[in-house]
Amino acid sequence: MKLEPNTKVALVTGASRGIGEAIARRLSSDGLFVIATATSRSGVERINGHLGASGIGLEMRIEEEDSVGKCVQEILDGYDAVDVIVNNAGITRDNLLMRMKYEEWKEVIDINLSGIYRVVKPLLRGMMKKRWGRIVNISSVVGRMGNSGQSNYAASKAGLEGFTRSLAQEIGTRGITVNCVSPGYIETDMTRDLLQEQVEEIKSRISVGRLGRAEDVAALVSFLTREEASYITGETIQVNGGLYYF
Ligand code: NAP
Repeated sequence: MKLEPNTKVALVTGASRGIGEAIARRLSSDGLFVIATATSRSGVERINGHLGASGIGLEMRIEEEDSVGKCVQEILDGYDAVDVIVNNAGITRDNLLMRMKYEEWKEVIDINLSGIYRVVKPLLRGMMKKRWGRIVNISSVVGRMGNSGQSNYAASKAGLEGFTRSLAQEIGTRGITVNCVSPGYIETDMTRDLLQEQVEEIKSRISVGRLGRAEDVAALVSFLTREEASYITGETIQVNGGLYYF
């Protein structure tokens, strides 16, 4: 597709709903052309509906090498390279470790952590050639504080933060920054099943007294993708309303 000269291209994974959708909408309103992914055809159609001419939806299952490969090839064929990658796709499979099946462990690590390797690696060369890029990884407050029943999820997010600090050191001199945005409790499908008493207990530990909105996260992602954020890299920034967890 032919874009206006100097239009920046962003890839947002897992953008059919929740935080990813808010990020895709925000970046497109910032003037970027947004390539946004979903795992199903209906998700892709939903994305195409909300992005209109300022972006496009593609299908991608991040745990499947072939699926990521096909999606990345479509991006490279259509747009040569991306300027911004937002690694947002993520899942939970909660269980106490004593009861956790290996499949529950593996699925979370495969999607939340190994998925980043599959997506970022083939897109890095193009970014390095441009000598400009922004990579934003969506972590979680749980990666730092831990949470009973989420050892798989916490491990995946803590891993993501270590990946971020390392890659930032590898490519900083090429004008590419790599950061994590770490949301607290945000109102999306992921937190919809929390019991009312759990929500009240969580709120009592949040300074601003409410759960977050997907747009609260998107606002920081937007800032980190801008030119003026060029001196922030390897960092993990919390968006958690002052959730007290130490
Ligand atoms: P969500 O509403 O459940 O949406 C998840 C997104 O990821 C969807 O677009 C989904 O696509 C996609 N996805 C799921 N499995 C995938 C797979 N196998 N391959 C590729 N994409 C897949 O989640 P959310 O709450 O917006 O969370 C987004 C990110 O923020 C996650 O990384 C999550 O860990 C992180 N986070 C969330 C919270 C929170 O409180 N909500 C807090 C901290 C961090 P489909 O629609 O096609 O399934």
